[in-house]
Amino acid sequence: MHYSVFKILKEGLTGNKGWKPVWREPDPKPEYDIVIVGAGGHGLATAYYLAREFGVTNVAVVEKGWLGSGNVGRNTTIIRSNYMLPGNEPFYEMSLKLWEGLEQDFNYNAMVSQRSILNLFHSDPQRDGFVRRANAMILAGADAELASADDLRRELPFLDFDNARFPIKGGLFQRRGGTVRHDAVAWGFARGADSRGVDIIQNCEVTGFDIKDGVCTGVQTSRGAIRAKKVAVCVAGSSGRVMAEAGMRLPIESHVLQAFVTEGLKPTLPGVITFGAGHFYISQSDKGGLVFGGDLDGYNSYAQRGNLPVVEDVCEGGMAIMPMIGRARILRIWGGVMDMSMDGSPFIDKTHIDGLYFNGGWCYGGFKATPASGMCYAHLLARDVPHPNATEMRLDRFKRGLIIDEKGQGAQPNLH
Ligand SMILES: Cc1cc2nc3c(=O)[nH]c(=O)nc-3n(C[C@H](O)[C@H](O)[C@H](O)COP(=O)(O)OP(=O)(O)OC[C@H]3O[C@@H](n4cnc5c(N)ncnc54)[C@H](O)[C@@H]3O)c2cc1C
Repeated sequence: MHYSVFKILKEGLTGNKGWKPVWREPDPKPEYDIVIVGAGGHGLATAYYLAREFGVTNVAVVEKGWLGSGNVGRNTTIIRSNYMLPGNEPFYEMSLKLWEGLEQDFNYNAMVSQRSILNLFHSDPQRDGFVRRANAMILAGADAELASADDLRRELPFLDFDNARFPIKGGLFQRRGGTVRHDAVAWGFARGADSRGVDIIQNCEVTGFDIKDGVCTGVQTSRGAIRAKKVAVCVAGSSGRVMAEAGMRLPIESHVLQAFVTEGLKPTLPGVITFGAGHFYISQSDKGGLVFGGDLDGYNSYAQRGNLPVVEDVCEGGMAIMPMIGRARILRIWGGVMDMSMDGSPFIDKTHIDGLYFNGGWCYGGFKATPASGMCYAHLLARDVPHPNATEMRLDRFKRGLIIDEKGQGAQPNLH
């Protein structure tokens, strides 16, 4: 079904009886060419690009809950490509370019809004770090713009410039960064994949892998066994648990990350703003709520809810840069389980088991990666070679000493 203004008008005038469900509810078939485990953003995007770019449609996406029930529907919706290292920046810039054409591509309104992202800095060394990052971004074809404190005073007068404990010395803008309606991304990719013949099977948990003589030939699920030539895992926060069923131990820990939304307010924030002297970031949703978050809870967990010390820490961060936030009332707080890798960068790779592939380690930044991750994973599955923009996202990079340590903080997942 093609969405258009004419279709909306016609349906509006005829009682909205012609809309069809956006995806089917098929039963699992006994066998597929590819079974994707996890109907989050990355699993659905992989299925979509497998069908659209590589013509591979005998594919199932199996999901233990409902489509989009994981982090794709829990994140704070920020997209950007302000990374620095060669192993990351071209990949994230590719993702941003895909976001820019996504809605036309899958004919679904995902509310892609390039309202800008600003990283504040509060010291001279921090400014030097951001200048270096900006240069790396520009070299990779991204946009970056340095703003002085005076520029920011004019553009964002509500920030605390005068009484702040951490004075704002300026910021790094990426004007093409912004936000996207996260659920609509899952729905749009699901619709695009389903319409090309992919089976999306909800309430179907993968409980084991059929592995014999080093070859994976399918999965065991709560709805029976499914055979497959290739099995592609992308279960984000459940990566450790699911891959343990294949006997693999990953360089990944699961941690909780919380997010917050206030009551709806009049337009206040033009774009996304991040605090440079603590962990706090904020944007305003199209409904008016201030959406913000901060650091991980700091202990391993599979619970999708967090604890109060981080609530306090995040609110302190907010008060430190924009005290007016103290007057807003918080409506909801929620949590998601993050697959934190040991260098803060992801994996899109084959495993040592033939036919078993892995995508994960997205830490708390995988939403912005969704289209590029789908494209690169689909490339790997269809051609059995990594996409040129994902050649470094390998599982053995720790063994080879080729980590992609974006923040230079090493094996400390709580710092990424
Ligand atoms: C509070 C919060 C804020 C965030 N903010 C941002 C942000 O602003 N920008 C950004 O880029 N990123 C952000 N992220 C990170 C981002 O949401 C994740 O990195 C990304 O969504 C992970 O990929 P996914 O969408 O495929 O994961 P998910 O949506 O979690 O998909 C994984 C799916 O696998 C399913 N699954 C698990 N086990 C099994 C099994 N055994 N069988 C079948 N299915 C299974 C799960 O049910 C789930 O649906 C945030 C995350 C959180 C929690």
